[in-house]
Amino acid sequence: MSETTTTIPEARNKPAVQNDTTVGNYFVSNYPPFSFWTPEGVTDLEKALDTPPDPDKPLGLYVHIPFCRKRCHFCYFRVYTDKDATAIRGYLNAAIKELDYYMPKKFLGDRKLSFVYFGGGTPSYLSPNQLRELTNGLKERLPWDDAEEVSFECEPGTLNEKKLEAIREIGVTRLSLGVENFNDHILSLNGRAHRSKEIEKAYKAARDVGFPQINIDLIAGMLEETEENWQANIDKVLELKPDCVTIYQMEVPYNTTIYKEMKAQGKLVAPVADWETKRRWVAEAYERLEKEGGYDVSSAYTAVRNKSQTTFVYRDKLWAGADLLSLGVASFGHIGGVHYQNQHDFEPYVHKINASQSPVYRALKPTDEEKLVREFILQMKLGRLSFSYFDEKFGVNSREKFAEPIATISSWGYAKIEGNELILNRDGLLQVDRLLHEFFLPQHRNVRYA
Ligand code: SF4
Repeated sequence: MSETTTTIPEARNKPAVQNDTTVGNYFVSNYPPFSFWTPEGVTDLEKALDTPPDPDKPLGLYVHIPFCRKRCHFCYFRVYTDKDATAIRGYLNAAIKELDYYMPKKFLGDRKLSFVYFGGGTPSYLSPNQLRELTNGLKERLPWDDAEEVSFECEPGTLNEKKLEAIREIGVTRLSLGVENFNDHILSLNGRAHRSKEIEKAYKAARDVGFPQINIDLIAGMLEETEENWQANIDKVLELKPDCVTIYQMEVPYNTTIYKEMKAQGKLVAPVADWETKRRWVAEAYERLEKEGGYDVSSAYTAVRNKSQTTFVYRDKLWAGADLLSLGVASFGHIGGVHYQNQHDFEPYVHKINASQSPVYRALKPTDEEKLVREFILQMKLGRLSFSYFDEKFGVNSREKFAEPIATISSWGYAKIEGNELILNRDGLLQVDRLLHEFFLPQHRNVRYA
């Protein structure tokens, strides 16, 4: 009789955690890390574009609007604050023309758009006329009448009734307000362009226009955030009752004004709250939203009212491997199993489009194993995931595959297995981006993420 032995995976000892906020990306938005995407990988994307799609795979459209009124001190996105109307028109025409480039490609098949996302930058920076011209041009090519969701990011100070009506008319169902904080001193100190009065006005007008879903973004731990002010932010959210509240923890990536100042002063620690404090603030916010506002926490970053109705299709489909056709400078897409990013500067992007060339700058075709890791870690951000989903989709025993990192984060007190599910507790959920690195393949650990 042969003996079977069960190997109990060894959990890694808990490393000393960096509590100060130092420079670098905390938020994990994709996998493998962007630093592994290359210009050579674009050949794989070209092949994927010329391959008929899996008809069951949902298709989304992302449109990047890179203009802002001011550059926030914590911002690391590709944004422009100095483009005049002619440059903006040229850009919008380029985005429409970019879609022309993709229209004859086989990857589209007969698929209809399942979701659309306008991100930035500040999509609401555009005038009603610019918005109509852009969206008419896009819709003529790829309509979104049947899309489940059309999301649109706004900076409150750029909104008025007319613009909100135009945004609703183009089909937007989910309006996202980049509030970040309700205190004028903190908004000003962090380089935000809007003030609290504009938030109130914009929120009321958006409610009057009747968007099916309004989200408010907050950031825990902006420059000079205090205990008292953070609680006042949550009081205000409870008063306004948005359908969804998204809370990020302040990070200080390399390409930010805050980091540039730190570097000039030879400082290693950012002048913002440490990670423990930021986590506690988000934990307290969620607790109050749950108890006093009837919200449910639906991911590491979001709390929603009316859980059954307040969905976030863009997030849920992307985290389940949907295709995303992305348009615009520096935008990120994912087609036929290949990640890609467009040219990350304005002029080269517009130039490529006008020369009828591909605007893609770098790409990466993940292996099947990397696709599994990607989807697994993205779904961990929801706080729970089902092993059988991964076993069926990827043909692996995911519980065994990730036995070691699961044992590790469980031994640290952040997760547990219950039946067919991996479940993160609140403490684990609020630091999930840090824990995800345990699930990375060895070659992707301890490297620069972006
Ligand atoms: S509004 Fe958003 S995209 Fe624009 S500068 Fe500020 S953080 Fe960056």
